Amino acid sequence: MKLGIVGLPNVGKSTLFNSLTKAGAEMANYPFCTIDPNVGVVSVPDERLRVLTEMNHSRKTIPAVIEFVDIAGLVKGASKGEGLGNQFLGNIRECDAIVHVVRCFDDGNVIHVDGSVDPIRDIETINLELLFSDMEIVERRRAKVGKQARNDKTARKEAELLNRLYQFLEEGNMASAFEPADEDEEKYFRQYDLLTAKPVIYAANVSEDDMADDGANNAYVKQVRDYAGEHGAQVFVVCAQMEAEISELEDDERQAFLEDLGLKESGLDKLIKASYELLGLISYLTTGEDETRAWTITRGTKAPQAAGKIHTDFERGFIAAEVVKYKDLMEQGSMHAAKEAGLVGLQGKEYVVQDGDIINFRFNV
Ligand code: GDP
Repeated sequence: MKLGIVGLPNVGKSTLFNSLTKAGAEMANYPFCTIDPNVGVVSVPDERLRVLTEMNHSRKTIPAVIEFVDIAGLVKGASKGEGLGNQFLGNIRECDAIVHVVRCFDDGNVIHVDGSVDPIRDIETINLELLFSDMEIVERRRAKVGKQARNDKTARKEAELLNRLYQFLEEGNMASAFEPADEDEEKYFRQYDLLTAKPVIYAANVSEDDMADDGANNAYVKQVRDYAGEHGAQVFVVCAQMEAEISELEDDERQAFLEDLGLKESGLDKLIKASYELLGLISYLTTGEDETRAWTITRGTKAPQAAGKIHTDFERGFIAAEVVKYKDLMEQGSMHAAKEAGLVGLQGKEYVVQDGDIINFRFNV
């Protein structure tokens, strides 16, 4: 799962990306990151892993991870090929969701590419480029399908959809607001993989002073919240500069620093969790002496497919899942006690795995 960090130049993207990846996952496990400096693998903070590792004296702890990509260089005219524009748009296309960084801090020393701080203008500049790029894709597809449509009924159906979709985008609407008429249309629509259909978190980058009340007194942030509300997107208030400083600290120093500020976790930890949720992702857990580990699945995944994340053999030979909820295990204090209390259940292949399920799969080899 991959999130692209976008935004105009000089709004704090790299600052945010660097602090995200500094605290990131063990790079040795993800060799491709060292090749591409704009890709960072970040572990999803999960207190449950630490607790289970201690409980079972696991030798290893392996968190869930998501990838962030720093997509710099998106400027006005990108969809027309300005400043390597098309390449950057292509990078966004490969992402599952977007973190759109918006400048909400005043600082005379940091030049704004358009001369003044104006978050809505900034957001619309970027979104317009994404929209242009989507229109081009729809247009190209329309030209292709239009030819087939003359003597092919399915193609005619798609051509109709493309006409409607093009008009919708042309009116300035984001594809995320488009409503396909039926399942066929839905299927086509998903295949186009449009940029403005991707889920978005707006990261309002504020000054340190604004962090205490989560940007409540910052007029820029209010504008961003209103805009996001209208477009069904989420807003996240962050101070990239402060996060960069925090990420330089050692673990125990960091904890002390956050406590001083009256915070339980860093803004980045919250952002990572929010991104995970935005993508509809949850974790189930496995734990033992060998390792304690979080496995990423999408919400709604059934037990055999969840098992398949560990190994395809687990899915093929699936018999049952022995499941205990993390909360139940904590309340009982041990696996033994949880079993005695009847809280460890055997689940079959229709079972929908929940976040925080601790699972032991039974399977035929
Ligand atoms: P990018 O072009 O969007 O990647 O922007 P950078 O991350 O390189 O940041 C541009 C400039 O803004 C740098 O000089 C940063 O130090 C500064 N900057 C980033 N975040 C903040 C912030 O939260 N507050 C202030 N005052 N400056 C920031």
